[in-house]
Amino acid sequence: VASISAQHCRTLPGRPLAEVETPALLVDVARLDANIAALAEFLRRRAPGIRLRPHAKTHKCAEIARRQVAAGAVGVCCQTLGEAEAMAGGGIADILVTNEIADAGKAARLAAIASVATVSVCADDSGQVALLADAAASRGVTLGVLVEVDVGGGRCGVGSAAAALDLAASITRAPGLRFAGLQAYHGRAQHLRTHAEREAAIAGAVAAAEEAADLIRRSGIACPTITGAGTGTFEIEAASATYTELQCGSYVFMDVDYGRNARSAVGGVPDFAHALTVLTTVISRPRPERAVCDAGLKAFSLDSGPPSLALHPGLDFRGASDEHSTLGVDDGSELRIGDRLQLLPGHCDPTVALHDRIIAHENGVVTSVWPVARGW
Ligand SMILES: *Cc1c(COP(=O)(O)O)cnc(C)c1O
Repeated sequence: VASISAQHCRTLPGRPLAEVETPALLVDVARLDANIAALAEFLRRRAPGIRLRPHAKTHKCAEIARRQVAAGAVGVCCQTLGEAEAMAGGGIADILVTNEIADAGKAARLAAIASVATVSVCADDSGQVALLADAAASRGVTLGVLVEVDVGGGRCGVGSAAAALDLAASITRAPGLRFAGLQAYHGRAQHLRTHAEREAAIAGAVAAAEEAADLIRRSGIACPTITGAGTGTFEIEAASATYTELQCGSYVFMDVDYGRNARSAVGGVPDFAHALTVLTTVISRPRPERAVCDAGLKAFSLDSGPPSLALHPGLDFRGASDEHSTLGVDDGSELRIGDRLQLLPGHCDPTVALHDRIIAHENGVVTSVWPVARGW
């Protein structure tokens, strides 16, 4: 029985969207490509010296990463080794794992990836550096290591420039490791709603990154890369003269939560289009004012609020359980059992992680089915 689903997906390319079994994750290829092109073009014009290394945690999909690289990205960021393995397997030549590795098994997996791609990773403690050095030595590879600095996001990262220097020095001494620079991502700044708030947060990030880089360089250690930024703030880091690389992820798909950010005060920042939707079927119309569809908590994430029904005026989201959503239906709606709806997810990354595949479509027709690398 399980193979029916795989068989269904094999036969989909060239078929109308109406034949896709639901719930299903869809990407509008024209919008996806427009988002990729818009960011690449903005950076080419406004920040030509700054590299783009999009975050692949958003899509977990080598096909999309290849499109980003074809548009000029230097490689990708990954959060998990499962993503990094899928990207390397899909031909992405330069991978930065923007995360800390805390066990020998994962360090060995990372070193294995470094035998087919250029690999770098973050550290904020000498224990991680020791694990990475052992793994690199036993595999005979070199791993780039960036010191992660907490620039205000309050997640991983050393808390001072002095600690950043200590760790950078220990990386330069470790065989098999190459000190690559600083990871300086301010996650919390991305969803601050006004440009002024985002600008103030990133000013703090720039100051913290600059202080650490300056101390490292004054001690005679080169600090070639300072990397960070996301979809909410990239134009601010790009204008900083500190950051050399940007890690935007969500821009490829956009989501409802990013749609709540007030526009950037910097001119020319693209308005990214909603390219990702969850396709669902109305399975019940128990009352005139209520519809039930077959996409619930297992088809979209609710951590940043409910999906939007902006594509379907007259309907509103009321609630979700595992495999159902209940929708409010305006008077006079013709909505029927069997009708299909496209929901805009509240938060794209955790929504993608609920699906085994992305159905790519153009003009109402499925063009391809792309695997999602869900494993860790
Ligand atoms: C999620 C993430 C990004 C990308 O952020 P978006 O808001 O999706 O653009 C970049 N860098 C790191 C380290 C992240 O965790």
